[in-house]
Amino acid sequence: MSASKKLLILPGDGIGPEVMRQVRRVIDWLGRRRGITFEVKEGLVGGAAIDAHGVPLTDATLNEAKAADAVLLGAVGGPRWEKIEFERRPEAGLLRLRKDLELFANLRPALVLEALVDASPLKADTVRGLDLLIVRELTGGIYFGEPRGIKDLGNGIRQGINTQVYTTTEIQRVAKVAFELARKRNSRVCSVDKANVMESGLLWREEVTRLHQEEFVDVELSHMYADNCAMQLIRNPRQFDVIVTDNLFGDILSDEAAMLTGSLGMLPSASLGAIDADGRRPALYEPVHGSAPDIAGRDIANPIAGLFSLAMCLRHSFELPDEATLIEKAVSQVLKGGMRTTDIMAPGMARCSTTVMGDSITRALDKLNA
Ligand code: NAD
Repeated sequence: MSASKKLLILPGDGIGPEVMRQVRRVIDWLGRRRGITFEVKEGLVGGAAIDAHGVPLTDATLNEAKAADAVLLGAVGGPRWEKIEFERRPEAGLLRLRKDLELFANLRPALVLEALVDASPLKADTVRGLDLLIVRELTGGIYFGEPRGIKDLGNGIRQGINTQVYTTTEIQRVAKVAFELARKRNSRVCSVDKANVMESGLLWREEVTRLHQEEFVDVELSHMYADNCAMQLIRNPRQFDVIVTDNLFGDILSDEAAMLTGSLGMLPSASLGAIDADGRRPALYEPVHGSAPDIAGRDIANPIAGLFSLAMCLRHSFELPDEATLIEKAVSQVLKGGMRTTDIMAPGMARCSTTVMGDSITRALDKLNA
């Protein structure tokens, strides 16, 4: 990694800029109070880039993203741009970023904080202390496989085709990310497939097993069929540490896991690429939630998913686990103290704005750092 830490912030649309403003405050706090400085650039993505440049991501911004050690994104999209053709819509900017940076591993943690244990639709006893991480393959599988399309078979019959396809390289590189992450957690990986009915699933299982035997015997590996995993996530989610799975199953299971925590405004994500010859790994960090046009501009959005995305960025791109933990602890303390944005409001708690939540978290950081 280069001596200076290069960070590109793309606030995007809707609540994106409000949320990223609070993230920026914490980045500034890290410089002031911990002596950790970043070379921060800001750019436009999504609808904001369409309004300014006519495209959802300019080549210049894409190049900035490639030059950065990490990209922090707010959210893209909104009703203003919904009538534009698909390739020029805000979401296309985000897709281009993921594709051109070759971000093949999508990390979706599901963490239940004690203060929010009642926000889960499951019983508190089932989710208390939950801390799992889903690693989803993001650039291969059935969403990209060829052949694809809708064929006219004649006689009024049509056929829809998609192809589930994985190479050994694609499986191994995402499994490697999962094993490496497990080593920094509780050293357990559950690989999820449908090896009982799909050849691509069989290959998936064989390759994950082979990699495990060759490089990661210290990590505990188990295998599970995707349908069973969907059930186990509801029955006993705490049995999991790291789940690694393909694009399609990961899409579904990561949303299921997200719901275990009960709150969209709290969920971060990371998308990682391959480590290059200089030891740099392209990475994009973003909240799971969208641009929430229904509440945008009102200073009521929950900034915590954005702040947790920053924590993931510190942990995975900058090897700053202590600072990541500090942010997570500060958030926990503020929630324990009863502060709540509207989305996580509960009886007896104090409703606060985005800005006041940011104020409280920076104050908690000051106290923890004293
Ligand atoms: P959304 O996540 O924006 O909002 C869903 C609901 O959750 C809304 O009621 C919203 O007010 C609430 N919400 C979301 N984040 C919140 C937060 N931080 N604090 C408080 N409440 C929050 O999903 P949507 O409404 O389906 O989509 C809105 C727009 O966002 C669409 O244009 C969609 O394409 C886009 N979108 C973008 C991304 C992304 O940028 N990665 C992801 C999903 C949706």
